[in-house]
Amino acid sequence: MNIQDETDGHRAFALAGARLRYGPDKTVDVEHIDLHLTPDLEKQSLDGVCTTTVRALDEPVECLALDAVDLVVTSVVREGKPQTFVVRDGILDVRFDPPIAAGASAEFRVTYRTVRPRHGLFFIAPTPEYPQKVRHAWTQSQDENARFWFPCLDYPHAKSTTSTTVVVPKGLFALANGALTERRDDGDRTIFTYRQDVPHSTYLMTFVVGPFSEIEQRKAGARAVPVWYYVLPGREADGERCFSNTPAMIDAFEERIGTPYPYARYSQIAVADFIFGGMENTSATTQTDRVLHDEVAHLDFSADFLVAHELAHQWFGDLLTCRDWSQAWLNEGFATYFEAVWREADLGYDEYLYDVFGCVARYLDEDGSRYRRPIVCNRYRDPIELFDRHLYEKGGAVLHMLRGELGDARFWRALRHYVKQCAGRNVETIDLIRAIEEASGRNLRGFFDQWVFRGGHPELEVSGAWDAKTRAVTLTIDQKQTVDEANPAYDFSVDVGFAANAGSKPAANLGTATLADERRLRIHIERPHETVTIPLDWEPKLIRFDPGSFILGSVTYKLGVDYAIAALQGDADPVARIRAARELAKDGALRAREALRAALRDDPFWGTLAELAAALGETKAPWARELLLEAATHPHAKVRRAVAAALGSFRDTSVADALIERYREDPSYFVRAAALASLGKTRDGRAFDVLNAAIVTQTWNGTVEAGAARGLSELADARAVDPLVAATVLGRDEGLRRVAVDALARVGNLLVDARARVVDALERLLDDPMFLVQLAAIAACERLEDARLLSALDRLSSGGFDGRVRRDAAEAAIRVREAQKVPAQVSALRTDLDSLREDQRKLQEKIETLSRP
Ligand SMILES: [Zn+2]
Repeated sequence: MNIQDETDGHRAFALAGARLRYGPDKTVDVEHIDLHLTPDLEKQSLDGVCTTTVRALDEPVECLALDAVDLVVTSVVREGKPQTFVVRDGILDVRFDPPIAAGASAEFRVTYRTVRPRHGLFFIAPTPEYPQKVRHAWTQSQDENARFWFPCLDYPHAKSTTSTTVVVPKGLFALANGALTERRDDGDRTIFTYRQDVPHSTYLMTFVVGPFSEIEQRKAGARAVPVWYYVLPGREADGERCFSNTPAMIDAFEERIGTPYPYARYSQIAVADFIFGGMENTSATTQTDRVLHDEVAHLDFSADFLVAHELAHQWFGDLLTCRDWSQAWLNEGFATYFEAVWREADLGYDEYLYDVFGCVARYLDEDGSRYRRPIVCNRYRDPIELFDRHLYEKGGAVLHMLRGELGDARFWRALRHYVKQCAGRNVETIDLIRAIEEASGRNLRGFFDQWVFRGGHPELEVSGAWDAKTRAVTLTIDQKQTVDEANPAYDFSVDVGFAANAGSKPAANLGTATLADERRLRIHIERPHETVTIPLDWEPKLIRFDPGSFILGSVTYKLGVDYAIAALQGDADPVARIRAARELAKDGALRAREALRAALRDDPFWGTLAELAAALGETKAPWARELLLEAATHPHAKVRRAVAAALGSFRDTSVADALIERYREDPSYFVRAAALASLGKTRDGRAFDVLNAAIVTQTWNGTVEAGAARGLSELADARAVDPLVAATVLGRDEGLRRVAVDALARVGNLLVDARARVVDALERLLDDPMFLVQLAAIAACERLEDARLLSALDRLSSGGFDGRVRRDAAEAAIRVREAQKVPAQVSALRTDLDSLREDQRKLQEKIETLSRP
């Protein structure tokens, strides 16, 4: 199995059966696609007429192989003359008679029908379990599923203008790409016609039909484009909460990108059971209706991340489209980065930095636990496999690092130049590299080789010391990752700063700005162990490493308690404060604790505090528990959420009291959910009853119930199985079902007696009609590592109908097989180790109590 070929101790990305992929050859340019569509929501069918205009390249074209899956084609006609065609295994072969002459254009019309398509086009309808569901239909073409609803050359490099006519029963609304050029009633039907004049790729083509409410927002951008959103009836107020920032985002992105919003209008339509978060269909984004939210959720939830992501794609993805999927970070990395850019514009630099910090953390997690790969890589089975945290989060973090490398002004100048040069085209990473070079003179091939074309990252450990005799500060930077011939040390420049005063409270939005008394310099790192000695006239009270946290990798501070305290109190970069808090929590000395307590009270940024809380939880120390209990009612809901989660590290009555109170009293769904999850971890005698009652409540997106499911899974109590199985059944909220599926696997791992029931339940859920529940069931099988699930996983790995299902099932099956090889003694030893740790904790607590004055 290829996944067991390890690179630098990491699993490889490519699965068995993966091969090198390149974009297909072109024999024609597609100039225009015209669709005439008549969907039937009751019969779940689509009648279509697809008229394609192609221009032959430099040779006559006799035959054209179009992608078309499960389409019943009744005719292919060119200039009134039927053409011969053959349908074979996902392909519609059209034979042109006469051949299209070299350089000439030809138009041909395919009439077809599809009923209950397996992919690409989804019909949503009421079911016995969900009778309230509203009938509607939506498409999802990325990455290669447009072929399920019209015949086409289904590859990103085929860009064309399009027009789409959708015929629907009167009273329904239809959305498609581009400007709405006509809307007219014809008897009991309404006909909508849209026209997209800027060429785009088939994976961005869409139509959505249903009884949607239509809401126009303020016009936005230099060209005052109309901005719309569409929601199913009854969700109008939720839609307003969700989409109200869109016009401001268009303004902000135009200003930074320099190229005006490219299309005639911008629409977002929220649909049920969507299989992604959002999809950036050109000018007509589809969004999951799960981001529509009520007033309570709005306390500490915003849909801006998703709205910003899909909006950024209108430039990065839709206007500049990756040439092939291996280059898809040029879509997803940019869209992810612009989520942070919007936070910066809307909420300030701290929020921006913390967003990037979150991206790096999620990428590090995937790299550490799943596999390692370069961001650009073309060896895979299905293109959708590439849509992971390397592509999104690491791609986004690379852009942040690029901003540090170039400096703000040059970074934005380079990005503007890239968009201007490549607008309307297909792009590869080399186009970005060249645009940067043209705009800034900087040759960044080395940068891209390290961070984009090579897997992995540096793991840095930073320490500093002042020598009073020589009056110099010594900074040591170690690269702790494997460094050998195949994995050379990372080579980069980084800023360091020294301040004579530790500073007072960090001013908000200082970002990378130099402090008043700071000496800032740039040092070069190229060896695994670097020591830099900097003579100073004064002893620095504050050492800053990489202000702006640009370096993509993990950074651990070993500055010593004094410098860590100074950084926690005085560094303007919230990420530096997080690193300092982690060092202090690990240290645990009295001064360290006092500094952490002061920070919990005074630090102005919730993100720092959330990470500080997590670091306290990880210590499992009684003093940390006390600090967390004090912070349980912090005014910021996101801090309370993190504190409630961190309290789960402690099995203690006072903790259980505080968590039950948070669940009962807190206004935030997310705090209540976190409190329930942690309550289960305390294994307090009251926990089961509280959780068992909470899991049957009904809150937005099943949020609180999902917290109860997590809590139940931590109890190591056989009574948890029944309510968890009940939470997975059809009829419950999709979000709850997904969490409950995972929770069941956890119970199965804790309780040998429950395993058989869990296996039964998971086997059933592997074929769940809800796509995201099916994915959750696959992940749960991976967690349970039970050999009885292998045959079902193997079946999905080879025969699953979606690329994500095939990928995840294959990885899960590999993990389950590996686990079978682990001797039983190891798991027994792990259990012993856990109880030893618990004993150690109790002893420590006792010592602590006894040594109190
Ligand atoms: Zn995206």
